[in-house]
Amino acid sequence: MPKMYLLDVTNRDGVQTARLGLSKLEKTMINIYLNEMGVFQSEFGFPTTRHEVNYLKANLELAEIGVIKPLRLGGWIRAISTDVEATFRNVPQLQHLNISISTSDQMIEGKFQGRKTRSDIIKDMMAAADAARAHGVKSLGVNAEDASRTDVDYLVEFGLAAREHGADRLRYCDTLGYDNPFTIYKNARTLAEKTGLPIELHCHNDLGMAVANSIAGAMGAIDGGQDAYINTTINGIGERAGNADLIAIILAARKSKETAEKYKLGGNVNLSMAWKIAKFASYAFGVPIPINQPGVGANAFAHESGIHADGVLKDPENYELYDYEELGRGDPEFVESGREICTGEYGGISGFSHVMGKLPVPVKFPEREKANEILELVRYANVASQKPLVEDELVFIAKYPGIARKLLTLTPLA
Ligand SMILES: [Zn+2]
Repeated sequence: MPKMYLLDVTNRDGVQTARLGLSKLEKTMINIYLNEMGVFQSEFGFPTTRHEVNYLKANLELAEIGVIKPLRLGGWIRAISTDVEATFRNVPQLQHLNISISTSDQMIEGKFQGRKTRSDIIKDMMAAADAARAHGVKSLGVNAEDASRTDVDYLVEFGLAAREHGADRLRYCDTLGYDNPFTIYKNARTLAEKTGLPIELHCHNDLGMAVANSIAGAMGAIDGGQDAYINTTINGIGERAGNADLIAIILAARKSKETAEKYKLGGNVNLSMAWKIAKFASYAFGVPIPINQPGVGANAFAHESGIHADGVLKDPENYELYDYEELGRGDPEFVESGREICTGEYGGISGFSHVMGKLPVPVKFPEREKANEILELVRYANVASQKPLVEDELVFIAKYPGIARKLLTLTPLA
């Protein structure tokens, strides 16, 4: 039986969101956490964007040495041959790629404005897919942007051509969040049945249905005999009203009525990472988690009204669908309320050594030279993020200084 897999796009759709962004170290931590969480793939960035190149290479190196494994790291580019060529010039080690082109008449007329026809779109996509294959890409997803506003027969034609030219998956993009669960189920099922390709569901939340649409689309793909790859972002951060929230998708797949019996979540998804990854993304993006966020919101397990409080005290299942422990919540969290020593871009060795020595697993430096080297990297990381580094970032830099140096190198390329 085909399954649902998670393909997180926080490091691509999340970071391209207006007003929001992440440092390269923060993006790297997200890949590390997604890996620990058992997510199938992270769409980790833009290989044609020059300031991404060192970060992409450094993360592929982390994959190579087993730090980010088995998570797949996939790039995102436009489905045009010149982007494919630039990709493999910049990041020759890249193994997984999604190539994207608009397919709807709205985009063909409104965006390309007569410069491209439907058949040009397919031709461009085929040429890009051929080029990616020629560069030895191991897995290739082909994205139909604005698929939900595209006539489904044309999408089938597009998908079949993609498959013939080496696509492993077809990404159905509900770019504007236009679908409802019934329409996306039908389209995903038709595409799965008629193209024979696994279907990716990329859903936006403009009408508040991103999670429901993703799950319904995945059901359609699976009922059509193919695996489904649900695109998620942490805390739902993404263009405009955002994308399907990673944690809510896992909860919906596992806990919603009659779902888990028939539609299985593939891989080894570890929900107990939820609290940690949601909190980190919130801190890194500088966007608070809404109080009513599924699973990880401050009120997700809070009860005040008489009937609810009484009910949950008698038996939590009266008013809770799942336990907070499952999401990695419930441990007391330490907040310094007295004197605090911080380390950062203007910090010195004494404060830095103090901070590193107070980590849950203290990091000590026998040689002063080594401590100075790590401190210098911590300073640069703080320059990039403009907020105190979290413990895991400090430990990462101390453990992988060579990789951290690459992540922090942002010299414009020639
Ligand atoms: Zn998107």
